[in-house]
Amino acid sequence: MNYALVTGGSGGIGSAICIKLAQMGYHILVHYRSNKEAAENTLKVINELGGSGEIIRFDVTDHGAVKTALQKWKADHGHEYISVLVNNAGYSKDVLMVWMKPEEWSEVIDTNLNSFYNVTTPLLEDMVVNKFGRIINVVSLSGIKGLPGQTNYSAAKAGVIGATKALAQEVGRKKVTVNAVAPGYIRTEMTKDLDEKELKKLIPANRFGTPEEVAEVVGFLASNGASYINGEVIHVNGGLYT
Ligand code: NDP
Repeated sequence: MNYALVTGGSGGIGSAICIKLAQMGYHILVHYRSNKEAAENTLKVINELGGSGEIIRFDVTDHGAVKTALQKWKADHGHEYISVLVNNAGYSKDVLMVWMKPEEWSEVIDTNLNSFYNVTTPLLEDMVVNKFGRIINVVSLSGIKGLPGQTNYSAAKAGVIGATKALAQEVGRKKVTVNAVAPGYIRTEMTKDLDEKELKKLIPANRFGTPEEVAEVVGFLASNGASYINGEVIHVNGGLYT
């Protein structure tokens, strides 16, 4: 069986990614931190579509907790390993830099950037040893062009982009690819308070995107068809910035 872990499988984009990868035949580890009901709902949809999966819980900012949860999974699964990792869990706390409190900086860096280290390192060795792996990081337009009010979030996502490019070069010869997907404005919990009517005027597609449109690209990057794509950042933003 081929296993894929999607962090933040309880969220809008993560849920769509879980469903897409399940439809491609992966057994999905649907991850959540606080919203168990949403994770269970994602798993229910997977099962209804004839796929398989299980739920896993940890806080991506807690290095020890992530390690323990993934070690336990490994101990329960013998010689099997997680070959696809989608680092999707994320969090934004928008505030102008001049008023930003230390915790508003560090929580955003911890959740979006340090999580990449915390979740990737326990899985990387197995991918390298087995000579197959796909690591797909969900970053953001904010980490490419920078967005005012998001200095913390832009810094974190830009950090993940740098890490994507570096790690891709470390592990490419072991048939492990590391890529990033950079969504623009996507309709989820994270953007529910934004004024879509106003913001869509800036977007050539004239609308926000859907989680499924992000999931399609993640699915492609996880597929064999993407085996020669490594260290890339693919924009999914309706033409807002290319
Ligand atoms: P949601 O708010 O819908 O989902 C966020 C997910 O992240 C939830 O599953 C949440 O889990 C999880 N999460 C947050 N903090 C932690 C934590 N400390 N430990 C573990 N899990 C955590 O957001 P989206 O689906 O919109 O976002 C998914 C990704 O896409 C994020 O990385 C985001 O930055 C990125 N993105 C989103 C855009 C958009 O327009 N929506 C645009 C660009 C990038 P739980 O609820 O169970 O706690």
